[in-house]
Amino acid sequence: MKLILLGPPGAGKGTQAKEISAKYSIPQLSTGDMLRAAVKAGSDVGKRAKAVMDKGGLVSDEIVIGIIEDRIAQKDCATGFILDGFPRTLGQAAALDNLLSSKKLSLDHVIEMRVNDEELVTRIAGRYTCAKCGQGYHDKFQKPVKAGTCDKCGGTEFARRPDDNAETVKTRLMAYYRETSPLIGYYFAKNSLRSIDGMAEIGAVTKAIDGILTGKKGK
Ligand code: ADP
Ligand code: ADP
Ligand code: ZN
Repeated sequence: MKLILLGPPGAGKGTQAKEISAKYSIPQLSTGDMLRAAVKAGSDVGKRAKAVMDKGGLVSDEIVIGIIEDRIAQKDCATGFILDGFPRTLGQAAALDNLLSSKKLSLDHVIEMRVNDEELVTRIAGRYTCAKCGQGYHDKFQKPVKAGTCDKCGGTEFARRPDDNAETVKTRLMAYYRETSPLIGYYFAKNSLRSIDGMAEIGAVTKAIDGILTGKKGK
């Protein structure tokens, strides 16, 4: 199964991608995570991407398309994958189409997650992750059961992204509306778009996505 989770920053793509990944045993391909790993490793790509990411802009198509091509060629993607945060421009969408058709593959689902702008800002401002296992949390909406301890791995250190601040959020939202939102029309026209209410609780959103993936008629 090959699918795209489409939506603005903070919509819940990463949260849901992890659920689907575990349930269907297919990898989550997050270009954001891959770019952050490149920045941390200090690679050429990381060096080129860092300043753009810190400001909330989009990294060049050339870089992210290269990353995705390499990643999809790996063995664990043979049975499918979840694209989380890619494509983000029409150029990336066209490159993905070409890549898949050259391998005689096609997408099964493109799922758009709809969330209000004010909610996005709140979600991003309160987002943090476990430094050890990467499990996502939120100050208000997704707290660990035991305060200060990760539910998944028991870790006690947490991290916030440098770009998750009130100033950068606005730039990222602008980039979304300018560059990424046209993809909603692009996939609608290709008859592959399904839209879900991303404002619902995490569990309800997971159910809605699952309904689409299992072919049940939902919202
Ligand atoms: P994205 O990958 O789309 O940027 P995330 O999955 O990282 O978004 O979610 C952003 C923040 O909002 C996280 O802190 C997460 O815990 C929280 N969150 C995700 N989905 C929901 C939801 N349905 N309701 C409330 N908070 C959510
Ligand atoms: P979010 O879902 O909160 O927007 P991501 O982790 O997906 O965050 O992305 C973080 C940053 O990495 C983006 O603001 C952008 O600078 C860069 N990035 C990630 N994916 C792409 C992409 N497909 N194209 C261009 N830049 C990307
Ligand atoms: Zn953890």
